[in-house]
Amino acid sequence: MTSIDDDRKCMKPLLTINNLVTSFHSQEQTVRAVDGLDVSVRQGETLGLVGESGCGKSVTALSVLRLLRCPPAEIRGSIVFNGRNLLDLSREEMRRLRGDALSMVFQEPMTSLNPVLTIDDQLTEGIRLHRGASRAKAREMALEFLDMVRIPDARNRIREYPHALSGGMRQRVMIAMALSCHPELLFADEPTTALDVTIQAQILELLAQLKDELGTSVVMITHDLGVIAEMASRVVVMYAGRVVEEAPVRDLFKDPRHPYTRGLLGSIPVLGRRKSQKDRKLQEIPGIVPDLKNLPSGCRFHPRCPQKMDVCERQDPAMIRLGEFRAVTCWLEAEV
Ligand code: SF4
Repeated sequence: MTSIDDDRKCMKPLLTINNLVTSFHSQEQTVRAVDGLDVSVRQGETLGLVGESGCGKSVTALSVLRLLRCPPAEIRGSIVFNGRNLLDLSREEMRRLRGDALSMVFQEPMTSLNPVLTIDDQLTEGIRLHRGASRAKAREMALEFLDMVRIPDARNRIREYPHALSGGMRQRVMIAMALSCHPELLFADEPTTALDVTIQAQILELLAQLKDELGTSVVMITHDLGVIAEMASRVVVMYAGRVVEEAPVRDLFKDPRHPYTRGLLGSIPVLGRRKSQKDRKLQEIPGIVPDLKNLPSGCRFHPRCPQKMDVCERQDPAMIRLGEFRAVTCWLEAEV
């Protein structure tokens, strides 16, 4: 767990998202997958984006990278990266930015790697395109990146097709591809979910090390608070398309303020729990994430919330700032 002091060292915002609304239109209705998101990422930090599936984490990343087909998607608000609103850029400008200053590692590398191209072709293509390297130079650089992500026997492995590699190796190749153009900001979307536990730990360690070496800022998207504890300095908790809590990681673990965050933390098994706590059962959050086509009135979490009050069913709580790095969207804070 990195400290907020680390965070303060890197205060300059690299990415500032204001009032992001990402909708999907169909003939029948419009669904807002992200609804009024405000988030910033500072240079050199790792920000965790947490929540259950369907909370809008991945759609947020895809909106920033403009990887959604519009229409049926529509992205509104502002996404300022290095002083430029990405929503004002042309497709060509965005294409140049992706894989260069902005990059992404996806959950399942097999769906992101092209199965009919060798690792060599896929890795060198981006290097040639974005860094203007010759084929020979791009290959040399690709080998360096494969070494950096600890692919053994890289000179032979580079000639292989993705299916010949294990899941962990494929994810390393994806990381090498994502980092090959030294991006300033990397989105890692559940990068270890599809991997065995031991490989997960290796990949996380690798990402942390590469981030430090290259100075890349990272947005770590995950449902796993253990990954957040390991990697991030700040965390944003999302629920049904909205931010419900934002905090430095230490504060979030020590003093979670939103009932949803408390539910997420209560559902994590802890090894070596103290004697006095040994009878404590793992909590579960009752119910499921609401259907975005049919959201509950008032607070979106109220059907699942153990601390629900009358007002919660009637009115949407606004986000309340508790400090520079802390915010909660809950009527309980308004009561306080
Ligand atoms: Fe629970 Fe009400 Fe807070 Fe929503 S606003 S999380 S229902 S207490």
